[in-house]
Amino acid sequence: MAAGRRESFINDPNLDVMIDYETIQARVRELGAEITRDYANKKLHVIGVLKGACVFLSDLMRAIDLPVSFDFIGTSSYGASTKSSGEVRITKDLDISPCGRDVLLVEDIIDTGLTLNYLINMLRSRELGSLEIAALLDKPERHEIEVHARYIGFTIPNQFVVGYGLDVGELYRNLPFLAVPKNPDALARR
Ligand code: 5GP
Repeated sequence: MAAGRRESFINDPNLDVMIDYETIQARVRELGAEITRDYANKKLHVIGVLKGACVFLSDLMRAIDLPVSFDFIGTSSYGASTKSSGEVRITKDLDISPCGRDVLLVEDIIDTGLTLNYLINMLRSRELGSLEIAALLDKPERHEIEVHARYIGFTIPNQFVVGYGLDVGELYRNLPFLAVPKNPDALARR
């Protein structure tokens, strides 16, 4: 590579493509069609979990052929020592009351399941019309707690993935595909 130039994402030797752009888009369209059928007579209110779900959410909403309201909630796990207790910190609360609405909680990935479990318990106390989960990715080998997601984009093996909203050191969320970094630490340092 010439000095000062960087390779495009697709040629990056540190990134192994796991799921390409076209495959993601085709699956998102399928999920959107399924959600459109399931929510035809409901008041669909989508809540995206920041930041990882923002790219998936924006494509998914446009694949749903219904009037949809949406909101975001921000979370971050407490330190590694408390993560296994499922303690999650809310970094941004909801702007719109979800009370009485048919809520679809949209997450980037179900890893241990602790974040979603926390959010489900929190939302259940708010007298929703209904609550379902949509997750782009599911890593069943990593589950510490079982969370039922009605809509799953892809089931993947226990590998660390980046792209399409998922980051390493806050970078690479804008990759239009999902990739496995050969060396995540090197990516985070860029
Ligand atoms: P949980 O373990 O609570 O199910 O997942 C917590 C969060 O960890 C996810 O929402 C996601 O942001 C992050 N996470 C889990 N697995 C991965 C991964 O493979 N890659 C990236 N970039 N983030 C992940």
